[in-house]
Amino acid sequence: MNEQSWKIQKRIDGTIEQSQSVFKPFAAQTGDVWLIVVPHDDDAVLGMGLLIQAAHDAGISVHCAVVSDGSMGFSMPTEREGLVERRQAELMASCAILGIQAECVHVCGLPDCSLTQHQGMRRDATGALSGISWELTRIYRQLAPSCVFASTGTDYHPDHRAVASEVDMACFFASCGIWLELGEPVPVPDRWDFAVYCAFKDDPDLRLTGTEESLQIKLKAIEAFESQPEIISTLVKTVREDGPIEHFVQRSFQLYHPQQYNHLFPS
Ligand SMILES: [Zn+2]
Repeated sequence: MNEQSWKIQKRIDGTIEQSQSVFKPFAAQTGDVWLIVVPHDDDAVLGMGLLIQAAHDAGISVHCAVVSDGSMGFSMPTEREGLVERRQAELMASCAILGIQAECVHVCGLPDCSLTQHQGMRRDATGALSGISWELTRIYRQLAPSCVFASTGTDYHPDHRAVASEVDMACFFASCGIWLELGEPVPVPDRWDFAVYCAFKDDPDLRLTGTEESLQIKLKAIEAFESQPEIISTLVKTVREDGPIEHFVQRSFQLYHPQQYNHLFPS
């Protein structure tokens, strides 16, 4: 696949700006590091399996942080034993198909379907520090990503909502002087959302259209999750039927400046 295979449309002030690579629409450069943070191992490929391929074509180093251990992704009780290890192997196989190297996969291993209980930072039973913000701050400082992607916080799945808010907070934890044992502060990255199960709250800012070839690679990377066929079958059907299309929302942080309200209180 080369850059000519991609069509990227970005909505700017009512017009559509079109590109064939990720450079302009994402303000990216070759050698940049992008980080995708997902609650579950299969979310990254389902939501942005095409964009991962387009990023690689542009020479961007794509990393993926998987927050949960995937231990609740079973249909029958007989599937429980060894599921975490099976899913770990499936994750590595899926990432390899998309071109994400093993050393670029970061598994936090927090308990699947209980991520709301692991938001922020806390001490575990042994006294060790843990929590999603703690883990993400460490990874952000290790990688200094220019761009961080997360699945939209509008999702019904509580793990997805928990991770979406932690991803935002970790941008600021990682950039300030807190918890310096996790590394030196790094700049606040750009933030983009992708969708997995539920639609975005606002209309997307960007559409990526790939080719049949890139769609087949995405589907092959999804099929690597052999332990999950019943659970994600509806999503796979949608990906297959809707074709090589993905959407993204650019997030902006609403920071407070006292003077921003001056116009409401004229002297
Ligand atoms: Zn998920």
